[in-house]
Amino acid sequence: MPKIEIDANHCKGCGLCIDACPKKVIVFSEDINKLGYHPATPKNEGCIGCGICFYTCPEPESITVYKEDKSA
Ligand code: SF4
Ligand code: SF4
Repeated sequence: MPKIEIDANHCKGCGLCIDACPKKVIVFSEDINKLGYHPATPKNEGCIGCGICFYTCPEPESITVYKEDKSA
């Protein structure tokens, strides 16, 4: 299954990826990162690997998209 990973400490909590995800599989974490923001965090179940979150994110190092999870 496709999935994403979000590097919490690069995320500015802008929420653009959450709004942009067509499958609504990204949410805000209740944790606070080292920048003082609630980072986005993936739920992943239902992710289609479209990459829209990656292209929407203003922080290039935050989101990694795995179109296929080789470990699955
Ligand atoms: S790759 Fe697509 S479906 Fe998966 S979290 Fe990003 S925007 Fe959502
Ligand atoms: S778009 Fe990027 S910076 Fe904004 S909440 Fe999502 S991961 Fe964080």
